[in-house]
Amino acid sequence: MTDKVKIHPTVPPMAGVAGRTSEWRTSRPELFEDKCTKCMQCILHCPDDCFIINDEGFPVIEQYYCKGCMICEGVCPHNAIIEIPTLPGGEIDAMSIEDVLRLNYSKEKDE
Ligand code: SF4
Ligand code: SF4
Repeated sequence: MTDKVKIHPTVPPMAGVAGRTSEWRTSRPELFEDKCTKCMQCILHCPDDCFIINDEGFPVIEQYYCKGCMICEGVCPHNAIIEIPTLPGGEIDAMSIEDVLRLNYSKEKDE
């Protein structure tokens, strides 16, 4: 039995001639299930079809192919996705999730 549901409507994401899209991204999305309402807006809008759904019905981002466009963050109505900067190569985070959350919190306080 599989623990994840594939939902790709056309074809699954794959590497192009320039390599995997995640190799040239400068940031990546992080999804927080405690804020997610399973509205599926992120899945509908991802241009690279990078989502699967886990056993609990939450979207899961396939970071391997995510190009970091952050459209999913923009369309999420519940701020359940945040942007984490990545180092060149796209694989390693340039900041910890905790630091990004702290920074976002101070920005909100200043507004
Ligand atoms: S950042 Fe872009 S490519 Fe990555 S999961 Fe979100 S919408 Fe898809
Ligand atoms: S758009 Fe936000 S709230 Fe809706 S399913 Fe995606 S992460 Fe969850």
